[in-house]
Amino acid sequence: MATVLIIGAGGVGSVTAHKCAMNSRVFTKIHLASRTIAKPNAIKKDIKKRWGVDITTHVVDADKAKEVIALIRKTKPEAVINVALPYQDLSIMDACLATGVHYIDTANYEPKDEAHFEYSWQWAYRNKFKKRGVMAILGAGFDPGVTNAYCAYMLKKYFDKIRFVDILDANAGSHEKAFATNFSPEINIREVTQEVKHWRKIKRAGGWIKTPPVMNKGSVHFSFNYPVAGPRESYLLFHEEMESLVKNLPGLERMRFWMTFSENYLTHLRVMESIGISRIDPVDFKGEKIIPMEFLKALLPDPASLAKKYTGKTVIGCIVTGVKKGPSTSLRVKKKESTKYIYNVSDHAKCFREVGSQAISYTAGVPPVIAAMMILQGKWKGAGVFNVEELDPEPFLKALARNGLPFKVVNHRPLPTYLGLPASRQTPKKK
Ligand code: NDP
Repeated sequence: MATVLIIGAGGVGSVTAHKCAMNSRVFTKIHLASRTIAKPNAIKKDIKKRWGVDITTHVVDADKAKEVIALIRKTKPEAVINVALPYQDLSIMDACLATGVHYIDTANYEPKDEAHFEYSWQWAYRNKFKKRGVMAILGAGFDPGVTNAYCAYMLKKYFDKIRFVDILDANAGSHEKAFATNFSPEINIREVTQEVKHWRKIKRAGGWIKTPPVMNKGSVHFSFNYPVAGPRESYLLFHEEMESLVKNLPGLERMRFWMTFSENYLTHLRVMESIGISRIDPVDFKGEKIIPMEFLKALLPDPASLAKKYTGKTVIGCIVTGVKKGPSTSLRVKKKESTKYIYNVSDHAKCFREVGSQAISYTAGVPPVIAAMMILQGKWKGAGVFNVEELDPEPFLKALARNGLPFKVVNHRPLPTYLGLPASRQTPKKK
């Protein structure tokens, strides 16, 4: 019996609201708020039609902590799920602190005027949440989120120490548009056009190795044969879960993140960047200041609108190499190294039939609901700021499987160290 407040009513927020309604025995009162009322009201109508559940909608400017505090005081939730944009993370965290309410999000904070994301801003809230006696769970979408739980599950079930992690994210779907992003265009383009980093243990310390952005000459990529989806060109990308996982996985020697991109998508990115339409600094236009990226966002398809015609699958998972102590002989403890691949396959059309959304929104929107459930059911306890791998992965993954995101674990071969790099570049320097 709990009240939940969801902030954000885009592609992801819609799935989150539907899944809360589908779990109305846990979430007995559901509030959905966003910058404007049209999207929350459309979701409310669809939820009533599909699940017979009444939810309440609100307008809030989540950039303003005071507005969020007032809304929390009015709606009295036990947990706030933030599926608005990363720019609102800190103001919503401030509001949760002021009111003593649990906080869950799916993407780490970014300042609006700088295409840069990292956890430092949110990790700085650790003591405040601890003192207030509430939990903040960061990055509880699919990646970050479920990928963090997959690593924690590998450590709990199969290994004492993890040596290598490769996270692989494939969207083998088709939406029939010349160009569209699968989630917020602004956040998506900022993420994929930045400099790429992966992590490697060098001597005793770890270091971030930099390589060119995915659409530039010299980007690192290889063809991976995904289950169900088949071979797909996969590009090295910096992704936020790596920042916490490299701190929280004992014995780690290498971590990389790979995402599939089509040549068509990369060509569009190159053109947008070269003509300056993806810039995030203000430019003069007929005497007004406009931010090209915001204008571009207004031109591109709304990610939620892609769902109706989307076909194909997403395959997201982790290839993990680890070591497990075997039975000890009289002389020494035997160690056994192996590699496992843990992954989920989701189907765009199936997600659409269930909740009217495509699989990228679905895979991102279900996990924060389950994270809220874990807190409300007492399966995740504590006070402070947590990344998902710091919490018990088992009840989380079990509940995800019951709620549309099952996983599979298979044996795999480890991926080579210099994957995707030409021979001439196989000794990258530490930053
Ligand atoms: P959308 O842009 O489709 O939706 C964002 C929603 O937030 C909209 O309803 C928007 O309202 C609302 N919003 C924007 N600014 C404010 C504000 N100041 N106050 C209140 N509401 C606001 O994005 P998505 O649904 O695609 O993505 C949502 C989040 O999920 C993003 O942070 C994204 O990074 C994250 N994500 C995480 C993934 C993961 O696996 N971890 C994967 C995919 C996405 P309006 O439309 O009226 O502006």
